[in-house]
Amino acid sequence: MAALQLYNTLSRKKDIFTPLDPAHVRLYACGPTVYNYAHIGNARMAVVFDLLVRLLRTLYPKVTYVSNITDVDDKIIAAARESGASIDEITKKYAQVYNEDMKALGVAAPDIQPLATTHITHMIALIEALIEKGHAYAADGHALFHVPSFPAYGGLSGRSRDEQIAGARVEVASYKKDPADFVLWKPSSGDEPGWDSPWGYGRPGWHIECSAMAQTHLGLPFDIHGGGADLKFPHHENEIAQSCCASGAEEDLSAFAKMWVHNGFVTVEGEKMSKSLGNVVLVHDEIAQHKASYGQVIRLALLSAHYRKPLDWNAQILHQAEKLYEKMTRALETLKDVPVDETVKEPDTAVLAALCDDLNTPLAFTKLGDVLGDIRKAEDTAQPVLKATLLNTLSLLGITPEDSFAQEAGSNGDNGWIEALLAERTQAKTDRNFARADEIRDELAAKGITIEDTPSGPIWRRV
Ligand SMILES: [Zn+2]
Repeated sequence: MAALQLYNTLSRKKDIFTPLDPAHVRLYACGPTVYNYAHIGNARMAVVFDLLVRLLRTLYPKVTYVSNITDVDDKIIAAARESGASIDEITKKYAQVYNEDMKALGVAAPDIQPLATTHITHMIALIEALIEKGHAYAADGHALFHVPSFPAYGGLSGRSRDEQIAGARVEVASYKKDPADFVLWKPSSGDEPGWDSPWGYGRPGWHIECSAMAQTHLGLPFDIHGGGADLKFPHHENEIAQSCCASGAEEDLSAFAKMWVHNGFVTVEGEKMSKSLGNVVLVHDEIAQHKASYGQVIRLALLSAHYRKPLDWNAQILHQAEKLYEKMTRALETLKDVPVDETVKEPDTAVLAALCDDLNTPLAFTKLGDVLGDIRKAEDTAQPVLKATLLNTLSLLGITPEDSFAQEAGSNGDNGWIEALLAERTQAKTDRNFARADEIRDELAAKGITIEDTPSGPIWRRV
């Protein structure tokens, strides 16, 4: 098995990934706050962690990937006030849009996608534990984490105390004991969402949400915590402070998550994306303006730079992604009538090795180009193996060239890919991963295949 190495923000070096439990790898990535359409920067995070999950699934028998939905937040309240829609309508709509848009980019649904609002009891319990251990205090309807109570604070981002205070952009608040202290709970007024708590009617701060959801669904510690680089400080620093201090592990920053993986920023034609510049690229618009397979092109473009480097979104990377996508589609077309060698279960070794080296996608795409070149030159007898390798490799990369599959689905030839998906669905159901099972059913339905579950197993037919 190839050894996976990942750059760990906490240790500031590439570490060999050693799962806490090799039989069950567990990871968490901060999901979206749902009040608007996802932009290309949000999508980069989703695609990068989807790729990491696919890679982990190739290497380990069981992976649980949790990525949350933040459905209580001041930005959501503001969006509701502005639009006149209810908070519930806003969050339901944008959570659904987010999932649909990410699906178009080949992002598989997380195994668990918890909602912040269904974890309030656990958040309150965590805050109570922090207060009891002297790491937090109640003041003026708020509960606050007291940063000086945790000397290791700042260990993830490496920020000095002055930078912490400046970066936290704290409002001058008389109830804070220290300017770096951050909110765990705050009061809600009449029209704001709220819950009863020991500190009065109110709502959680954003950071405590992830601490509660990650612990609920993965247990502590877990293997990998991910997110965009912009979340390192203060969000991830605060998650570590809350979770380590609540569990009495003040000395060990890895007592929450062993590894911290962060993806880089996205700029648009050399500029920072911002509303004021009017250059925010929304995934929803990009998909709506192009044919269905364009989601795959966006995915390839998002993965064209190494995930830790900044990615500049411009016509050139999209053009290159389109060319690579066309090459894959052509290769699959030449193999249309070739059966898949079912004994080949592995993706291409060189592509896998590139991904195992801290998700080196630029190198993986070069190696994928070699596979596509081999297909052009291959003898007939070698093609079934090459086709199987190519399909396994594309599946690892999360690429599904729609046109070719549609043609295959319409032919009476090779049905291996349907069987493979059905087998994966059966396994997903056994693992109680119903989100993935449903997703496979939808994926097949989109290609005109219906599934009927019978006592002797699932049967499929074309409609
Ligand atoms: Zn988070």
